[in-house]
Amino acid sequence: MSQLDHRLSGIYAEVLQRNPGETEFHQAVHEVLDSLGPVVSKHPEYTDAAVIRRLCEPERQIIFRVPWVDDSGAVQINRGFRVEFNSALGPYKGGLRFHPSVYLGIVKFLGFEQIFKNALTGMPIGGGKGGSDFDPRGRSDGEVMRFCQSFMTELYRHLGEHTDVPAGDTGVGRRELGYLFGQYKRITNRYESGVLTGKGLSWGGSQVRREATGYGVVFFVDEILRAGGDSFDGKRVVVSGAGNVAIYAVEKVHELGGTVVACSDSSGYVVDEKGIDLDLLKDVKESRRGRIEDYAQARGEHAQYVAGRSVWDVPCDIALPCATQNELDHDAAATLVRNGCRIVAEGANMPTTPDAVRLLAEAGVAFAPGKAANAGGVATSALEMQQNASRDSWSFELTEERLAAIMRGIHERCLVTADEYGAPGNYVAGANIAGFIQVADAMLALGLV
Ligand code: NAP
Repeated sequence: MSQLDHRLSGIYAEVLQRNPGETEFHQAVHEVLDSLGPVVSKHPEYTDAAVIRRLCEPERQIIFRVPWVDDSGAVQINRGFRVEFNSALGPYKGGLRFHPSVYLGIVKFLGFEQIFKNALTGMPIGGGKGGSDFDPRGRSDGEVMRFCQSFMTELYRHLGEHTDVPAGDTGVGRRELGYLFGQYKRITNRYESGVLTGKGLSWGGSQVRREATGYGVVFFVDEILRAGGDSFDGKRVVVSGAGNVAIYAVEKVHELGGTVVACSDSSGYVVDEKGIDLDLLKDVKESRRGRIEDYAQARGEHAQYVAGRSVWDVPCDIALPCATQNELDHDAAATLVRNGCRIVAEGANMPTTPDAVRLLAEAGVAFAPGKAANAGGVATSALEMQQNASRDSWSFELTEERLAAIMRGIHERCLVTADEYGAPGNYVAGANIAGFIQVADAMLALGLV
């Protein structure tokens, strides 16, 4: 990891000491602090009021037992988390992740990132994140429902449209959100639509929310291309993952004239030189909850399935990591550069390791960090909250237009801020600094809370 400014290295040492073993959280904090040297030089008031130290400590952390009964009648115990990180800009906002890898360090890294991402959207939302080490894969609908009901039976007391508003994330889609909202409604006897986002369209959801993160990443890349006088036309794109973010990234790339030639899941990847067949991918992943290998089998001779290898071996012009944290490492970045990749944009949260980010920068590859590039999901969640508050629902076209404008705005803000702080063209610096300043100014205004 790179050397931090001397005014920030003490803060980082304190984070390490206070949060032992939480390596992903350490990594996320380091990445932000790494950009803030020029900011603390220009604004000593942030250091004087201990704004950065306060930002690194969540406002509230909730850890709870989630007991439930599986289909065989056996009692299962999972652990639930909600980290309410920062509410200077609005109610805590951020998704719930259900995955066996979830522990406090993952939830804190995601919650920390979420503060700056939400600030960048320009919407009035604070940062938080939650989840459980429950694995929905291979579980029946009944098991998932019983787990979600037990999870919400504890979590509901911490939520509210003006307090804390969760959404989905890895392992939490419409099915899970439906069960969670149903239980919230039952316990509180309130149809409080604004308490969760990512809802189904028939029960208070917003058009484009399902598509928003994937579409948003592609809109962001489109801005990078336009800034260089280029477009998606004829571009070869590789996407990792085959979940919510990946599927709608594929959809928008194809709409804009590019071709996605590979995607993956945690077992392997598929190369489809004619372009990923989106209808088939949706059928396999969304309707049948199948594997990428099933897609390859159904696609026949067009597709080649490769088990247990890195999707980043596939040559491309643009790489969109949309699966999970630290999935694109130094070796993968070196392969991408060797194969002529020009743009990497993060659909997932922190999928690129710090040494890979450095290597890409040195090679002149445009790199869009997740807190800017994947902010379209949470931005559209905020649009869902707006619609819920006014009991309105907007058309797909209007909502997509709003999303595209928000992504253009984030892109512009990153570039202007990077320029202002002496790092022209550096989206990482631009995103970290612009997000930080927005939250830091609000924290200063609100006093020591
Ligand atoms: P999802 O629907 O659960 O899909 C995750 C996908 O990633 C699955 O296909 C999964 O495959 C794959 N995956 C997981 N670990 C992998 C690995 N080590 N190698 C290759 N593929 C792997 O989740 P999602 O909502 O798309 O979220 C994906 C990422 O985007 C996460 O980092 C999330 O935090 C971030 N994000 C999501 C949103 C949103 O609105 N959903 C917004 C902002 C950021 P398996 O089925 O094999 O596990």
